This record gives sequence, structure tokens and C-alpha cells, in this order.
Amino acid sequence: MNEMPQENFIVLSASKMSSEQTEESLKNLPDSLRKRALQADRSRYRLNVTPKGILVNAEFDEGVFYGVQTFRQLLPVLAEQQKLKLPLQLSTMLIQDGAKFPHRGLLLDCCRHFMSVDFVKKYIDALAYYKMNVLHWHLTEDQGWRIQIDQYPLLTEVGAWRKEKDGTKYGGFYTKDQIREVVAYAAERHITVIPEIELPGHSSAAIAAYPALSCTHQSIEVENEWGVFKDIYCAGDEYTFEFLENVLTEVCELFPSPYIHIGGDEAPKFRWEQCEKCQRRIKQEKLKDEAELQTYFIERIAAFLESKGKRIIGWDEILEGGIPADAMIQSWRGMEGGEHAAKSGHDVVMSPTSHCYFDYGLSSTDMEEVYNFNPIPASLSVAESKYIRGGECNMWTEHAPQETVDSKVFPRMLALAEVLWTYPDQRNYAAFNKRVEEHYERLRALNIQPGFPKVPVSMRAIPSENTLNVELKPAFQGVHVTYSLAPSGTRPGDKILNYTNAIVINRPTLLSAQATMNEMSYTEPMQWWFEPHLAMGDSLKLANEPSPWYTGGGLNALVDGRLGSTNFRDGAWQAVQGKDMEAVVDLGVSTEIQELETRWFMYGNAWIFLPKSVEYFISDDGKNWKSAGRVDCNIDEKKDGEFFEPLSLKRLNKKARYVKMVAQNHGPCPTWHDAPGEPSWLFCDELIVR
Ligand SMILES: [Zn+2]
Repeated sequence: MNEMPQENFIVLSASKMSSEQTEESLKNLPDSLRKRALQADRSRYRLNVTPKGILVNAEFDEGVFYGVQTFRQLLPVLAEQQKLKLPLQLSTMLIQDGAKFPHRGLLLDCCRHFMSVDFVKKYIDALAYYKMNVLHWHLTEDQGWRIQIDQYPLLTEVGAWRKEKDGTKYGGFYTKDQIREVVAYAAERHITVIPEIELPGHSSAAIAAYPALSCTHQSIEVENEWGVFKDIYCAGDEYTFEFLENVLTEVCELFPSPYIHIGGDEAPKFRWEQCEKCQRRIKQEKLKDEAELQTYFIERIAAFLESKGKRIIGWDEILEGGIPADAMIQSWRGMEGGEHAAKSGHDVVMSPTSHCYFDYGLSSTDMEEVYNFNPIPASLSVAESKYIRGGECNMWTEHAPQETVDSKVFPRMLALAEVLWTYPDQRNYAAFNKRVEEHYERLRALNIQPGFPKVPVSMRAIPSENTLNVELKPAFQGVHVTYSLAPSGTRPGDKILNYTNAIVINRPTLLSAQATMNEMSYTEPMQWWFEPHLAMGDSLKLANEPSPWYTGGGLNALVDGRLGSTNFRDGAWQAVQGKDMEAVVDLGVSTEIQELETRWFMYGNAWIFLPKSVEYFISDDGKNWKSAGRVDCNIDEKKDGEFFEPLSLKRLNKKARYVKMVAQNHGPCPTWHDAPGEPSWLFCDELIVR
């Protein structure tokens, strides 16, 4: 440190830190922390604020960069707003810091909805500010191909554009110059851009441009719906591999990243089962089945990329038929895929839907849940846990056009940034939450409009006789709640009321709530539909336990008075997969019954079908049942879209104490479907007795 100025200095220095020097500065730390701090790691830095000056010292440039980010965060918010007035008083301090995980990423899906180059750069700035180092750029999809490839111009001329249902054209793509610009911008900020080129599935846009890539060679449109589609790259035709190798050659030239993400998820095998060429390949290569054909596919691509000096990352589905030795696995269907991969010696990036899917609303994953994420499964040994290289938060954009992305990613990404940087024993949610409050202004200075950290209002509906008392509680201080009421089946009411006391509901009602705080408003819809009825709050028995993902709010969900919306994930729908649904309700006393109704969800793309039929039974003792009537479902199973359908019996004029409903599952997904033979779902929101 001889070259150090005597005072008034800011020195940024990347040089080998001598071990004595490091030991000295760490001598007050507990043993365990000292050991970790000494582990060589490119992110490590030392920030020393002394009365004479400021020194950021690290072995690698990354470390110096992170030291500067920490220093930025220590300055008042005014510094980010470029309004800082000098002189400024700083506390003296010594920070010795380094990242827990080397892979700290964010996935941006720029396919379902396109994001401008400026927007992507804004995210690179935010990633850098929070010491993240990977931008996982999702560039090809069923709904759009977003990367210019010289040899295949139709990929962007045709594949980058889809015709929306309303007839409008939607799309966009990045030119090679734009991609080079983004990659360079990221590199200056020590961020690696990993491109994702999906194969063999999620390839409708490529097939729309070049139909010869599919098994059938039939021309298809760039998809304008969300889901999983059965036309995928043909694994039997050499043309497919020639195409992908040519595409990947151009991709490798653009991206210096040592990894290329090849997707590998959600590839239905239906076309391969029917395709002569694919079947011939299975025979020739002595493969067992279509799962092994996928392995063959991935291995061939991995070998090609290896010849270009690249390693592959793939979603955990690529584990299914065995994987190339040095492939990295990105675990999304829970932690199990990653756990299995780590145990067999593969590097892993964790991004399970439970904690890392920022396209999900706050009602399923709020900031605290993200913060409580531990990327290392408990079952791994210390040695195995070294294969967990880090994690990513995934911003899929089926339901998120660019202008809504900020409020979904922030502030939740701050929680993931801390999970991936900080050792678990130094994490404390309350302290973190307090620090985040101050970061809202910092985010705005980065031109980001953050959303709420959790659902700002909790709703509780308590049945009491034939009415519901609905409470709307602000989830934290400073939230202002207003609401309106309207008859069910209409639009939200015009009269906006301030919420003070529980709302009494005694007829079919749509309750809409709004939450605001400072300049922020909550953009996820808060709407609830209620219908008080005779069975509400009564004792209910189910023959089949509902799926833990879709309980509808509990075992009594079918008689809670709350109805579902046209979003099957709204928490009001209860579901079973591959089974019938059967429920018995005890009305307590013999009751006059005029109408019985159940409501069913339909969304073929998500494997949700209406029941074949619903039969209602009544009984006085709960043992001897009499049919009250059966309702067959006459809706075309191919009907598009997401909607629900009531199946009801009217003008019954019966008296009974017990009511039973038996709904017959539609059966496996039909042959025309994108997932033929898969068990379908039954979704019901309420068993209404009028
Ligand atoms: Zn084929």
C-alpha cells in the first residue's frame, strides 16, 4: 500500500490481497465467518472508509465493482437522484464481503411479451446495483422468435410476429447489433448474458417460419395462446440438426457466455410417437423410447456446443432420459430435479416455482417467501451442496407486458439478491424488510416502479346464518383500502367507499377492492364474488382430497359462499386431477330445496375440462340416497378459452337434510389435444343450495 495517497483519497484497487493483510482485517470475526471470507472467490472485496479516505480493494475486478455498489448503497438516496450536496459526513467502517453463490440471475422472457433494448439495459443496471451477475435472456418461444439469425431470415420475418386474437400484429426482435450492445453493456457491469434457445419444444415460432422442422411439415401459425404445444422439432430428420447447429453457431458468435441455455422443458412426445423418421431414429440408435430420443437430441446439441467451447444449461426435464456429463441443470419443478442432479455430480441453478417465479402473483409468492428460500436442499451433503451454483428468479411474461414487469420483479428481486449473496446465518427478514423500505426511492431513481412486497389487503369471509361478514384488512401500515359493491355478474360498482368495518353481504355480490400507498397502487385485481346460500358454512365431506395446489381455500371451500373468477388460480377453485369429484353436505335440518348448482372451470390448454355429467342426490339420513337429477355437459370439449359453466337443477321442490354431488371426470386429455392421454383436471368452486 506504499502508493496510497496520504489523505482525501478514493482508491479502487484490484490486486492480490496478501493473506497476512486479509487475516489481520478478519481477526475480530468468528472462526466460521473467517474461513468463508478467506475462500477464494471473484466477488470478494474490502471496503474501508477511514477519516483520510476511501479504499475499495479486491483481488478481481468484480470484487472492486461490488465494493463500489456497496458504497453506492451506503450513500444517501440523494446520490442516486444526483442531488447530493457536499460536503457529506460518512461513518468510518471496514466491510469485508463476498457472495455465497457464484450464479445470481434473473430470467427475462422477452418472447411472450417483447421488451425494448432500453428496458433490458435498465434491468442490467438494477442487477448490477444488487450484485447479481447473470441475465438469462429467453429469446425463442412458441409465441415469438426474438433473435436475428442471418442464415434463416424467416425466423424474424415470420417467427417474430404473431397475430393476436383481435387481429392485431404483435412482436419484435433484436438485431445482432442490438444484442452485441446489450452483451457489452452487461459485461461492463460484470453480468453474463446467457441466451436461451429452446429445444426441442416451445418451437412453434421457428416451425411457423420453417415448417420442415416439424415431424408433419405442416404449416402452422406463430402461437397466440399460452400453453404447451405438440408441434416440436423433429428428432428424426437431419435437417433439424443442421438448422440448429447453424443457428447455434451464430448464437455462440454473439454471446461470450460459457453457457448456452437450450431449454428442454415441456416437450410433448406425441408427434415423435407418430413420426416415421423419429421412430426410425429410435431403432437405429437403439433407444428405449421417446424420452431417450430427447436425451439423444440434447446430447447431440450439447456435443456440438462443446465443440464451440460452450456448456449447456437445461430445465430439469432434460434429466428424464439421462444427460450429458457436464450439463448444468436449472431446477424449476420444485427442488427435486436439482437435488437429484447435484447428487449425481451436475452443477445446478435453483429456480423452483415455489420461490422464484415472479410471474406468479404476490398471493402465491410474496417477498418474505422469496427471502426464506434456501437454494441448498437439506438432504445434500456438504460436498454435494457445492454443485448448487446459485439461483435465478424467473420473469415469465405470458401475463406481463413490459409496463407491468417492474412491479412484479421489484421488490421481490431484492430478496433473491440477498439470498444468493448472503450466508443464511446472517439473514434476518425483519432487518431486510426495514432496509427495503428505503430502497423504494433508490429503485425509482433507477427508473423502476416497484410494486408491493406482499398482498396489501387480506380478505376473510365469515359465514353467519345466511349472510357473510367480509373483512378487508390492510396487511401493513400506510395502506389505504377502498371498495365497491355490485350485483354478481356485472361490472365493479361505481360507488367507491372507504373501508372501515366488516362488509355484510346477503345476496350474490361482486366485491372489488383497491389498495394504495403513497404513489403506489396494487395492480393485481382484488375482486371476490360471493353468493350466500343454504349450505353455506355447513359441514362438508369430500370423497377425494383436493390437490394441494388448488384447495379453493380449504376442505370447506365448496360451501364457503365464495365463488371463483375466470382465473382458475384465484384461490377460490378447488380441483382434483384424474379423478371424479364427490361431496356430501349436511344442512343440519331438513330443508326445502328449489335449486342445486355447481360451477365448473374449462381451460383445455391447462388440461382443465368440464365434467361429463353431474348427478345430485338427496337424503334424510345421509345413508339412503335418492337421485334428484343428472345434468349432462353439452359444451364442446374443443371450445377455446378460459371460462366456467354452471350445471344446475331447477324447480326441485324437495325437502332433505343431506345433499350429494357426484361429478364425472372428463377422462384423459383427448387425442386432438396437445397432451393426449394425460389425466385431466376437474375444477369446482361451490356447491350451491338455494
Ligand atoms: Zn419426427
